[in-house]
Amino acid sequence: MSDFDIAAYIGDVPDFPKPGVTFKDITPLLSDPEAFGRAVDALVASAPEDIDVVCGMEARGFIVGAPVALALGARFVPVRKSGKLPRDTVETTYDLEYGTQTLAVHTDAISQGDRVLIVDDVLATGGTVAATADLIHRLGGSLVAVSVLMELAFLEPRDLLLRRDIDQVTALV
Ligand code: AMP
Repeated sequence: MSDFDIAAYIGDVPDFPKPGVTFKDITPLLSDPEAFGRAVDALVASAPEDIDVVCGMEARGFIVGAPVALALGARFVPVRKSGKLPRDTVETTYDLEYGTQTLAVHTDAISQGDRVLIVDDVLATGGTVAATADLIHRLGGSLVAVSVLMELAFLEPRDLLLRRDIDQVTALV
């Protein structure tokens, strides 16, 4: 794994989706099966023991989280934007840079005492992870770790996550 530079497979797209934002494009990684496989292996290796549930957030968290769940023998639970899931949900609303966003999860997707791993592509401000942690806790789950492909450390997401007692965070890059 030491010769594997995952950053080489993640593109920088300036001023997308709006001026001043540099979008981290994981499609080069997804289009290389060996590199994507190695990235998934690294996320799996970062996971604590006995994970019951992997939560992936819409939309790229689905792509990265589902193979991690399969490899761990865990249930995959999609965390979606409000109005997308067909059955009873719990929801939480959180602040984005401009405006708010509401995330939802099926109420029966996580049970009391489940050990949950959050997987996503990019950890930016940490708001999405913090909101997902709120949903997990409201359903009685225990968030044991967060694993992402890439962390934008200059946005200091770990400060927010530490304030929510989330301290097991792994970023491959
Ligand atoms: P945040 O809640 O600020 O940590 O944002 C994390 C979520 O937004 C993740 O689901 C990412 O997919 C997406 N995201 C935020 N910033 C970027 C970025 N610069 N490039 C790609 N995705 C991003």
